[in-house]
Amino acid sequence: MPLHPFGKAAAVRCLHLDDENKCAIFLSPERPRVCEGFKATLDVCGNSRAEAMAILSEWEILTAVTK
Ligand code: SF4
Repeated sequence: MPLHPFGKAAAVRCLHLDDENKCAIFLSPERPRVCEGFKATLDVCGNSRAEAMAILSEWEILTAVTK
């Protein structure tokens, strides 16, 4: 990720998101393969942005690494 050269930490907003929450490098060859490979599914994205944020926020908590 060009703006996250050492990787993007969990719970950190991607710096490539624009003001409309769209990927600013979507068509660029610099877009990470992991992003390219992601396919939106109902269990991850729900039926709305709000549902997606709720699901992803829960997953962030459940998978957080504690030191
Ligand atoms: S697709 Fe990848 S690079 Fe683009 S905004 Fe989402 S996480 Fe960032």
